[in-house]
Amino acid sequence: MSFYLPDKVNCNGEIFNVFITKEQIDARVSLLGKKLDKDFEGKKPIFIGILNGAFIFLADLMRHVTIECEVDFMKLSSYGDEKVSSGQVTELKEIDAKVKGRHVILVEDIVDTGLSMKYIVDKMKHYNPASVSVITLLHKKDATKHNVQIDYVGFEIPTKFVLGYGLDYAQEGRNLAQIYALKEG
Ligand code: 5GP
Repeated sequence: MSFYLPDKVNCNGEIFNVFITKEQIDARVSLLGKKLDKDFEGKKPIFIGILNGAFIFLADLMRHVTIECEVDFMKLSSYGDEKVSSGQVTELKEIDAKVKGRHVILVEDIVDTGLSMKYIVDKMKHYNPASVSVITLLHKKDATKHNVQIDYVGFEIPTKFVLGYGLDYAQEGRNLAQIYALKEG
């Protein structure tokens, strides 16, 4: 199967350059899957993907996880159509799974300020799960100001606006197979 892998894309009138290649993503996701297999062996965890951004990461990750597990989704919105966070978390879809007494793994595309993940972790804890773990493909460490636990990280990245592999700019670009960063200057 061939993928569309340009070095540069124009999304909604802005130029983005390739930042993390498909090869790098594949290698990292495979490693994370193996690590989760080891850490959650016999625990039958529930993976909860945070929509929309995490849908590709979660799908690829699941292909590398071989232990018994379940998958569910919740949907949040904090960016709207902008390149900076609105500073507010809006919950658009609740989880369906019963998480009481279960090992929950929250799967996020990117942690920026940490506001969304803090909101989700605090909310999950109210359901009395056996444990709550967090995995994010990308982490903007320097931008994170909310105190949030992150157990597994794909890539630590600088504070840049990124696109592709599930992440959008005004709903476009999610289908790009690599991660792109907004061209500066
Ligand atoms: P936080 O609540 O940590 O500030 O932001 C988390 C959410 O904001 C992510 O799930 C994602 O939807 C969005 N977000 C944060 N940084 C970026 C970025 O660089 N690019 C895109 N496309 N979305 C981002």
